This record gives sequence, structure tokens and C-alpha cells, in this order.
Amino acid sequence: MMDNEYSKYGFATQCIHSGNKPDAETGAIERPITMANSYVLPYDPSKVNWSSADDEKPLYTRNGGANQMYLQERLALLEGGEDAVVLSSGVAALSGTFFSLLKSGDHVIFSDVTYIAVYRLLNELFNNKFEVETTILDTSDLDAIKKAIKPNTKLIHIESPGNPTLKITDIEAVAKIAHEHNILLSVDNTFSSPYNQKPLELGADIVIESLTKYINGHGDAMGGVVVSRKEIIDQIKAQAMVNLGGTISPFNAWLIMRGSTTLPMRMEQHNKNGQKVAEYLESLPCVTFVAYPGLKSFKGHDIAKKQMKGFSGMLSFGIKGDHDKHNEFVSHLKIITSAVSLGHGASLIAFLGEDDERQYLFPDEFSNGFFRMSVGTEDAEDIIADLEQAFKAVGLL
Ligand SMILES: *Cc1c(COP(=O)(O)O)cnc(C)c1O
Repeated sequence: MMDNEYSKYGFATQCIHSGNKPDAETGAIERPITMANSYVLPYDPSKVNWSSADDEKPLYTRNGGANQMYLQERLALLEGGEDAVVLSSGVAALSGTFFSLLKSGDHVIFSDVTYIAVYRLLNELFNNKFEVETTILDTSDLDAIKKAIKPNTKLIHIESPGNPTLKITDIEAVAKIAHEHNILLSVDNTFSSPYNQKPLELGADIVIESLTKYINGHGDAMGGVVVSRKEIIDQIKAQAMVNLGGTISPFNAWLIMRGSTTLPMRMEQHNKNGQKVAEYLESLPCVTFVAYPGLKSFKGHDIAKKQMKGFSGMLSFGIKGDHDKHNEFVSHLKIITSAVSLGHGASLIAFLGEDDERQYLFPDEFSNGFFRMSVGTEDAEDIIADLEQAFKAVGLL
């Protein structure tokens, strides 16, 4: 995937053309879905390595199928990396990366604001089951990172913006620290997508995305990707895909390929709508805080501006009201849907209560319960009007 024939083109062109070709057999202008789980063996199959993923010619779909390969070609290009592996979910990509790169006795530093599965994996499972040492800390604090580095530190894992507080970490600065100590930096880029942020260009070694979110964008498929240098991707393919079995289904890979063609237009709309909704919420006296990287009042705004092209549609906010008031507010929403996940056309909202076990890691304003919202691609005026009528219905406006 080095020297991809589309590397000279712009991002929108790459989203449409890379990984696609007319079908050799039928001339169809979009590559078909290949649901087969097995492929014809070479003349002498005794030489086949059954534990490797073969990029040139598929063998068995757990070792990589045709639609997965097309999508890998596209995503390596969009993230600006040498190679990619697409897996069954974002969490498969995260756990597969940790499983493949870490061994007992290694030390990992990871951000105090991450997707919940990362917290679970690194705070409970890898350390308890495999004796991997882990340190959780505020990765926006560069001195804290420097102080936590040990001779056995192998990996720093960050998420920026982080889910759910939107905390911003300076990717370039952390990459520099990591590389001074021969440590790998992995970045979960799910909240931005490669349209808004390219961690590899900022110096990260590994970028991970949940394809379930912005890259597919239609709320109808699950997948995850890891993009990095070929030697790292080969390791993850062999360990996490072939031998742990975290392979994506051909149908999901096809759906995500299809969804990704419109990524630039969707992200533009998410960026615009996110900003408008964040500014609207910030203007209300009944809203206690708004966490959105595009707001000047937001702590990480300057660094976000430096490393992101747009601020996406993810935000969190608090309201003046007790536990029940939050649920009541949501029950009045008409087009904003109460659901987890994010990056769909439809706006989604989730009430994250006061009892989250990670509250101690979040800023004080999050401690009374808060909403995480994925601002969709509907008309911004309609999203704002929906929020407004719900605020009125519960007596907050
Ligand atoms: C959703 C999400 C994941 C996990 O992805 P799945 O596809 O649900 O497994 C990982 N990281 C972030 C930031 C996410 O929002």
C-alpha cells in the first residue's frame, strides 16, 4: 500500500476511488460482495502458511477476504499509513493491538479518558491476566507522561478528543516524548475520523478507528481498523485476526466501503452542526457546561485547532436538573434519538448517569450526570428546535 496509485489525489477523490476497480469478471463498476469463506488453493498448497494473512490472494476468509482487502487499501490511504488491518469491531482493533504488541512485564501508559473497553482492558484484564503493568493518567499533562515512563514502557495509548469528556491531548507533543524513549504511540481517532485529524501525520505510530461510527456513518455495520507500518500490521493480522479470530464479515466490510465514499460531505455537515448546537447549548442558562473542542471556552480548544481540521459532531453537556429530569428531557425529544453509538446521520443522545465508575477521573462538572450527544447531519435548525422544545417541556426554559 506504499505508493498507492491514488496518493496524489485529494481526500474526497481517495474516498471514492481507492480500493475500487471494475470487476474483472462482469465489468461491474463497483466491486461485488464476495461472501465465500474459502478461496481456491495454489497448485502446491503444502507451502501455504496457514497462520499468515495473505494480501495478494485470499485463502480463507478468517485470514482476510476480498472485501476486507479493498477496505484496507482505502483506509491505509485515508489515514496516511503504510498498511491497515480491518477487524470485526473497534474494540477488536483495540484489543487486537494490545494483545499483539504487549507481553508480560511490559508497561503501558494510557489516557484517563478513553472508550470504556480500553479502561476495562488496560485497567483490569491485561494487568490481572497477563501481568502487563498499566498506568492511567491525564495525557493532556505532558509532564505527567514523562514522569510515568519506565524502562519497560512499550506503549502509550491516547484518545483525542476522548470519549466522553472530549479531553484533548497534544498528539504531536506526546509522539515526540514517546519516540525519545523508544515507545510506540497509538491513537484512537474515532471521534474525529481521518477527515478531521490524521494522527500518523502528527507522529503517532498506530491509529485505531471504530468504523462503526463516522467512517461507515450509516449506523448499520460494525468494524474497526488499525493503520500503521507493515511490520506492525502483519503482527496484528497474524495474532488478532488469524489466531484470535477477530475477522470482519465480508458484508460489513462492503457496507463500510460504501458508507466511506460520502465521509467528506458528512463530516463537513457534522462539523457545522456540531458547532451550531454547541454554541446554542452554551447560550442557555439551564445548561451547566458544554464540552466541545470547537468552543473557545473549551480547555483544549487551542490544541484542537492546531491538530484538527474540524471539530466533528461529538459533544457532552450538563443541565440544571436532577437524575429524573434528565430522563424526562430525553423523553420529549422528537428527532434526536436516545441511543449510544455515534457518527450516524441521525442525532443521538445518551444520558450517562452519576454512578459511572470512572467519575473520579472526569472533571467536576460531569459528576451530576451528563449527556453525550452525537450531532447528526439533519438541518441544524431542526436539531436546535428539538432541544429547545424539550427544554421548555420540562420547564428548563
Ligand atoms: C465506539 C468506540 C469504540 C469501540 O468501537 P466498536 O465498533 O463499538 O467496537 C472505540 N473507541 C471509541 C472512541 C468509540 O467511540
